Amino acid sequence: MKESPQTRNLERILRSSKSVAGGFMGCDSRNVAEIIDADAYEVAKLGYTTQQLSARMQEITDAAKRGLGTWVEVDARHQAKVKEARGSIACPWPHLRRFIKRITTVKHLDSAQTICWTDLNIHLIAEHGFFEGRGSAFRIEPGQLAKIIF
Ligand SMILES: [Zn+2]
Repeated sequence: MKESPQTRNLERILRSSKSVAGGFMGCDSRNVAEIIDADAYEVAKLGYTTQQLSARMQEITDAAKRGLGTWVEVDARHQAKVKEARGSIACPWPHLRRFIKRITTVKHLDSAQTICWTDLNIHLIAEHGFFEGRGSAFRIEPGQLAKIIF
């Protein structure tokens, strides 16, 4: 795939972003389009869409917000809590979207497995199909996510 100047610029921002330690790409040597394509394939194989995953993540975050930092019962099989930090973080794509620095942790009660995401993760998955590069602080594995949140 020939990369446009916009894609190259995005790639540079994703690799070097100062707002997230290590950027959004981690140690992943694939380019952003390759990461997005591979995860789209993975999500489809799981039988979901990125819209279904991100909608469920948003639903869990919205439920967890009510706990103001304490564990909240989302449903019979899930507990979640949020942790908020000061300030906001911008989406690295070239549009003006900022997100509160909030981390949601959800626990699947049967398996005791947990997974975390930020408000920005939800946006990146919903709008850009981007689960971040391997080794980045908030890389989300679609398979692990689906197993825990549903
Ligand atoms: Zn965006």
